[in-house]
Amino acid sequence: MYNMPDKKGHFGPYGGVFASETLISALTELKQAYERYRNDPDFDREWRYELEHYVGRPSPIYYCERLSEMTGGAQIYLKREDLNHTGAHKVNNTVGQALLAKRMGKKRVIAETGAGQHGVAAATVAARYGMKCCVYMGAKDVERQAPNVLRMKLLGAEVRPVTTGSGTLKDALNEAMRDWVTNVDDTFYIIGTVAGPAPYPEMVRNFNAIVSEETVKQFPAMTGSEPDYVVACVGGGSNAIGAFYHWIDHKNVKLVGVEAAGRGLETGEHCASLERGTTGVLHGNRTALLMENEGQIKPAYSISAGLDYPGVGPEHAYLRDIGRAQYVAITDQEALDAFHKLCLIEGIIPALESSHALAYALKIAPTLPRDKKILVNLSGRGDKDLEVVLKTMGEKE
Ligand SMILES: *Cc1c(COP(=O)(O)O)cnc(C)c1O
Repeated sequence: MYNMPDKKGHFGPYGGVFASETLISALTELKQAYERYRNDPDFDREWRYELEHYVGRPSPIYYCERLSEMTGGAQIYLKREDLNHTGAHKVNNTVGQALLAKRMGKKRVIAETGAGQHGVAAATVAARYGMKCCVYMGAKDVERQAPNVLRMKLLGAEVRPVTTGSGTLKDALNEAMRDWVTNVDDTFYIIGTVAGPAPYPEMVRNFNAIVSEETVKQFPAMTGSEPDYVVACVGGGSNAIGAFYHWIDHKNVKLVGVEAAGRGLETGEHCASLERGTTGVLHGNRTALLMENEGQIKPAYSISAGLDYPGVGPEHAYLRDIGRAQYVAITDQEALDAFHKLCLIEGIIPALESSHALAYALKIAPTLPRDKKILVNLSGRGDKDLEVVLKTMGEKE
């Protein structure tokens, strides 16, 4: 049986804790609290209650009949994480971490955000549980993602623009870490993906694993068999690992993570850290990273702000190395084409992130027989992306 990570948070050579002394004590406190509450039936009950009544779980699986007919090959199904409260999978994790913060007696939560989706999910749960919330966001992203900045403010959160470095997600993460070290007594740091030092990659995975906990039951009940493929997009990797986790021991189910190839892998403007990266340390863990020869982090690029991260969760690097999951890349244009197809043919506006996963399904479906089944994790809805999409349409008209 798959049983990762080890006690120290290692996924083979990846993961672990690379942090300053001051951060170590905060991480130790977090680890102890998580170990205690993850096995506490009371905590589990409360978390599941919130998922049902606040988030709206379980999310359904939807069969794309018309889209499947059109490809002429494998049948395509969607796990509808876009229907969750706040519009994406991220809330599965923020509810979990906020409940943990509450049990630990923390009065203030902080978060980093890129596109603003995790910031919104963190601000939402902070309002729900009566905690102060401060969200670090790259100054560039504050500009690019104005509607989400407004959402966070309406939810009572303070948004702090980060101007250091490239003014994007990785810099926001650095600032949030700095805040945590300074305010560790009353502050809980809600990380938004399966990155960061242990225990974050494991904890965030376990909260998002509710997705595959549901699909291992839903999919056979609905279709009479297991899926041949489970496909999910990979930014930091939290929706993908959540969609994969309970399928890992089902060896006939192929797991495929889809990174952003941006303007094309050959252009260097992408964020395919698993396909084109090298091993290094970033944000407290060892993983696959986009680096220059001198070890400098290379700027990542994707049309989709949620995939725009130069690293990836350590567990994905491990699953890649042992061959249990396969990682591929999809360009901006392929993702946009998939986005429009889903709008027009199924009446669902997907997030641009999720459109990468869908694009890969649309790519392989015609090459497969009709009795094969592909389950795509539709990680979020596209409301936040309308402006970006509109701009690409304007360029063509
Ligand atoms: C944030 C986000 C992602 C990327 O994050 P992961 O940790 O890789 O899941 C993907 N899809 C949506 C809708 C997002 O908001």
